[in-house]
Amino acid sequence: MTKKVNLYFCVIILLFVSLLSGCSKKKEPVTDSAYMLGTHLNITIWTENEDEGKKVIKECFKRISEIEKKMSVNIKDSEINNINKNAGKEFVKVSAETSKVLNKALKYGEISNGAFDLTVGKFVKLWGIGTYNERIPSKSEIDDALKYVDYKLLKKDEKNGYKLDKEGMRIDLGGIAKGYAADEAYRILKSNGIENAVINLGGNIFTLGTRPDGEIWKIGIQDPFEPTGTYMGIVQFSDKAIVTSGNYERFFIKNNKRYHHIIDPKTGYPSENGIISTTIITNHSIDADALSTSVYILGVKKGLDLIEKLDDVECIIVTKNRKVYLSSGMKDKFKIKNNSFQIEN
Ligand code: AMP
Ligand code: MG
Repeated sequence: MTKKVNLYFCVIILLFVSLLSGCSKKKEPVTDSAYMLGTHLNITIWTENEDEGKKVIKECFKRISEIEKKMSVNIKDSEINNINKNAGKEFVKVSAETSKVLNKALKYGEISNGAFDLTVGKFVKLWGIGTYNERIPSKSEIDDALKYVDYKLLKKDEKNGYKLDKEGMRIDLGGIAKGYAADEAYRILKSNGIENAVINLGGNIFTLGTRPDGEIWKIGIQDPFEPTGTYMGIVQFSDKAIVTSGNYERFFIKNNKRYHHIIDPKTGYPSENGIISTTIITNHSIDADALSTSVYILGVKKGLDLIEKLDDVECIIVTKNRKVYLSSGMKDKFKIKNNSFQIEN
């Protein structure tokens, strides 16, 4: 055998060996959790390389921590709090990504006709739901706070500068920032070659690709009347963001009445229109997040009308009398698991 043929032979053997070892390696789940953005985060990926997998998930958490530092109202000198501190005073320059989230939030203010309002912060603080200060504010406190909630009073300049028109106004991105964080986690996983993953940021789910066996993901929809992890139905989707807003997520009960964290900006009280949960399914989590909050406040009719107008967006609405409303593209993708709920046509 000549030297050249020998070399070819070796290369073919090597290719064959690497092909075999590639076949024998099975993707295994790698998972990690963290607590940020006021919620439990969990990411599971399927990979042949456990160490690499763990590193990639850590990278996602690092990114989410950066987002939290810029956008959380619970971090004293976050960019959002800097805008809040300077309300009625001056423009505050923010990073390009905070600007992007602010602009999206403003866009959803317009689209939802003010149901989604990023300046809802004054109410969030007043009610203190989920904090040690939770309480029912007086009627006069609510009436006064109403003057400080209007997304149209957030002004911007050409250099990512933002200013709230009135002193005392407060931006709160609690209804959208987790969505942006999930999109960033998705981007990082994808750019690291991950093909199968589930990102769960406190109920903001993002399924990446298909299940490792090539099947479509099945995601449980929380039963709003039951403890976390009890599902009333299943959706089947791959490579989609699935975000739920529910009255069971953060609330307190006083005199047998439930006060939850999704505030109707037009009244200043937790939204009450019969809806107890809304789930949005679409391509980006930032949109799903803003829309789940919006539809919750808009109510069944206006909420469904809005979703039908948008491309590639689906929704599931659950009401307190156990009725389930589906957008037109959901009909064959959602299955009831608990027959005490009924799909309305
Ligand atoms: P979500 O769980 O995504 O529906 O968002 C609820 C969170 O968004 C609350 O905890 C508040 O921080 C904020 N929020 C409450 N009401 C509104 C509203 N009407 N528009 C925008 N954000 C809101
Ligand atoms: Mg939301």
